[in-house]
Amino acid sequence: MIIITRPDATEEQIEHIVARIRFWGLKAEVSRGAMRVVIGVIGPEDKIREKPLGAFPGVESVTPVLKPYKLVAYEFRGTASQVKIGGIGVGGKELVLMAGPCSVESEDQITTIARAVREAGAKILRGGAFKPRTSPYSFQGLGKLGLQLLATARKETGMPIITEVMDTKDLELVAEYADCLQIGARNMQNFSLLREVGRLNVPVMLKRGMSATIKDLLMSAEYILAEGNFNVLLCERGIRTFETMSRNTLDLNAVPILKSETHLPIVVDPTHGIGIRQHIPSMALAAVAAGADSIMMEVHNAPEQAKSDGEQALLPNDFRDVVERMRAVAKAVGREM
Ligand code: PEP
Ligand code: MN
Repeated sequence: MIIITRPDATEEQIEHIVARIRFWGLKAEVSRGAMRVVIGVIGPEDKIREKPLGAFPGVESVTPVLKPYKLVAYEFRGTASQVKIGGIGVGGKELVLMAGPCSVESEDQITTIARAVREAGAKILRGGAFKPRTSPYSFQGLGKLGLQLLATARKETGMPIITEVMDTKDLELVAEYADCLQIGARNMQNFSLLREVGRLNVPVMLKRGMSATIKDLLMSAEYILAEGNFNVLLCERGIRTFETMSRNTLDLNAVPILKSETHLPIVVDPTHGIGIRQHIPSMALAAVAAGADSIMMEVHNAPEQAKSDGEQALLPNDFRDVVERMRAVAKAVGREM
């Protein structure tokens, strides 16, 4: 249920509403807008329905959220949320670029790529230290050393870092280093991991599972917000379809649908979405046109030597070129870069 207060509601009235909701054993999430305060009431629906929420002084309206997802629903905030990753706001007017290698491989590799992508206009550095690989015999990431190398690259370039956490047992360690935690497609429905990151106050980028519907993605995000962490970004990274000519099928339908269904910022990863280096720029431009708040791309200075996903990594020069073209599209759809 969503309570919207009147513009002239006093702080005392708002506190009274919140205190009462908590007294009833329900949760209250307060979002403050310029004119009104939105109070989300969370708990068993039948229990909420019997409470006289409309009777409080200072209340303008009480509306049920009929969707299965509540806290992530657009109406819960009534406006787009911005998530700050190390001081960089995602979800505002600015289109934010995240770039870096699939995996962190060495100090020289990560710092060289970090410098190149920063110069081209990327704001956030990506790189995996814990890698979810299809084969147990493939490179699994450098683990803690990878996190330390990311921290070195952050120190050198000033870029905040996003990196994947695969397991609850590594969460404390990864959260020590990461400015934003990435939950990979394969873990989108790892509910214990979602709950654990929900208890932290660190931004989380949740990637869509390869067989997940948009609704599944929203329901998974709901787990994180339900634990109290509202700093969540959603990432479309391609889904499995019958198509075999591309690695995945980048579902750009998800972008406008998610933008209207949720207040959370939307990231698109065209790299894993299509998986073919030559075609990534086209899909990146399309993602900007579709309204993404952020684009994530894999870049490598020597893709032929990459320990993972070399075939889909852009060279730094390709990245620079696509960023320039993205600026024009961003401008056309009213965004800044
Ligand atoms: C990645 O970003 O490197 C990655 C493994 O992505 P996904 O979880 O989307 O496959
Ligand atoms: Mn990858």
